[in-house]
Amino acid sequence: MKPRILILGAGFGGLELSTTLSETLGDSIDVTLIDQSEGFVFGFAKLDLMFGRQDVKAVRHRYTDFAKPGVRLLREVVTGIDAQGKRVTTDQGVHEADILVIALGADYDVSGTPGVVLGRNEFYSVSGAAHLAGVLPGFGGGDVVVGVCGAPYKCPPAPSECALMLHDYLKARGLAQSTRITLVNPLPSPVPPSPDTSKAILEAFAERGITFVPNARVASVEDKVVVLDNGTRLPCDLFLGVPKNRAADVVVASGLTEGGWVPVDPYTLRTRFEGVYAVGDLANTGVPKAGVYAEGAARTVAANIVAQLRGEEQTARNPGAGSCYIEFGANRIGRVDVDFLSGPKPFGTYHGASEALRADKETFGSSRRARWFGAAGEQAGE
Ligand SMILES: Cc1cc2nc3c(=O)[nH]c(=O)nc-3n(C[C@H](O)[C@H](O)[C@H](O)COP(=O)(O)OP(=O)(O)OC[C@H]3O[C@@H](n4cnc5c(N)ncnc54)[C@H](O)[C@@H]3O)c2cc1C
Repeated sequence: MKPRILILGAGFGGLELSTTLSETLGDSIDVTLIDQSEGFVFGFAKLDLMFGRQDVKAVRHRYTDFAKPGVRLLREVVTGIDAQGKRVTTDQGVHEADILVIALGADYDVSGTPGVVLGRNEFYSVSGAAHLAGVLPGFGGGDVVVGVCGAPYKCPPAPSECALMLHDYLKARGLAQSTRITLVNPLPSPVPPSPDTSKAILEAFAERGITFVPNARVASVEDKVVVLDNGTRLPCDLFLGVPKNRAADVVVASGLTEGGWVPVDPYTLRTRFEGVYAVGDLANTGVPKAGVYAEGAARTVAANIVAQLRGEEQTARNPGAGSCYIEFGANRIGRVDVDFLSGPKPFGTYHGASEALRADKETFGSSRRARWFGAAGEQAGE
């Protein structure tokens, strides 16, 4: 019988893991990849969506275009996970596995932040970004708060990118002078592991008159006021929020989480259950919640699964290193390369914002689209 590998979640982690397994082992394995959605959306595409650069159809890469030998992609909702038994229940039935990889990403929890409504005043979900794309053209100036409701959250630079892109957007509409942008962030600086990146972002904020409020989170959003956890009340005509992130309910209910996330060995992504791995945003690895790190973790797990199936030693270790592109506005992009796991402490290298780095970011997206979705993925960027 072929080894049964069950992968929950076809996001950055699940797509890369199943693609690598298929490339290496072809149809000698039986991989089932489960996702509830119609297609995959890059996190950064939500900013493009919100600022009207692309529409929902353009940013969604349909799972029907994912075809890999040895892999079945099923559109089902995971409703229960028995990690001990490697048995998963979905809205369609039950799946049993020899190896189980949970890559269900981070979910959003607005229950502790009154006034933040999914799909309305946050830009971290596709529906929220799409909704705000309809709201922004009607905004006539005033106080805007880009506010983070809790840490850790996906893609630490994304709220800063939002503030800088918003400035460009409002300037193009002649509203820069009549608008004040404030960014509230629980982190002490925009990108803590890279002081150079944080300095460049803070300089860009200063040039544009954007106020940065560090070490604070949004506690609630009221009529025309945003209340912070330190009691500060900020005037607000438009709120663009980052909801509190946490592992999905189904993962919490499975008993796999501690403090809202799945504890794993950061180097191997093993959970405390034999043959069960957690990859990507839901795993507590000490590495940021970003696609590029989910991808590195997925490749590590793929290499160790291949070694196991071949009876070889499992030597692959999660690099915990990757590059994040940062939108600076004015068509310029910066890049920060951060290595979290190879040294005694995280270390980041900043590459200054330029128009040339836009081509790098585009290649980052197009290479993944082509790798995961073949010809349809290549055409998507044209
Ligand atoms: C605004 C924004 C900007 C970002 N910019 C960047 C960037 O520039 N670079 C970068 O590297 N990262 C960026 N990110 C972060 C990146 O999107 C995530 O870190 C990455 O997608 C995590 O990968 P993952 O595989 O862990 O989870 P995901 O990619 O989120 O995939 C999880 C999958 O699980 C599925 N799922 C969840 N629950 C269920 C269920 N019960 N049943 C079935 N399926 C389920 C979901 O549909 C989803 O497809 C950004 C994120 C945001 C929000």
